[in-house]
Amino acid sequence: MPLLKYLAGYPPELLVQVTRLLEQGRLADSVRQRHPDGHDVRTDRALYDYVIALKAACLRNAEPVSKVAYDSKLNVIQHALGTHTAVSRVQGTRLKAKREIRIASLFRDAPAAFLRMIVVHELAHLKERQHDKAFYALCVNMEPDYHQLEFDLRMWLTAHEPLPGS
Ligand SMILES: [Zn+2]
Repeated sequence: MPLLKYLAGYPPELLVQVTRLLEQGRLADSVRQRHPDGHDVRTDRALYDYVIALKAACLRNAEPVSKVAYDSKLNVIQHALGTHTAVSRVQGTRLKAKREIRIASLFRDAPAAFLRMIVVHELAHLKERQHDKAFYALCVNMEPDYHQLEFDLRMWLTAHEPLPGS
């Protein structure tokens, strides 16, 4: 099956449906129909406010986040869709870890639901480093539709991948 690198691990019968939509040129439309709303989180400043507001609502007791930015160099597939780093700084005699959240720039133009999903993903990493059960439980706690949204996001990415030879 072509071009389903974003969907590795999903059940074959789902992938058959996705392949059919892709071949019919209807995949992007079918995702857009389910997620028609965009967002206006355009700047790093707006993204910072968005992340901090969601953190305050859902994950108040996690470590503070010092920096939030869109990153055009971020390879989406590389680290499941975003990245989170802890930058260590020596402050006086204490080593202080600062948390940064970077979101791939393509989310600027993604449906609002996908921006929310990716921010939930990155916020969950403040508490859980690995993509394990505890991590996904935290994601679902913040966004009950998390798993469906992640699948839809992966379909969206698949639909926007250039076809081979084009
Ligand atoms: Zn992750």
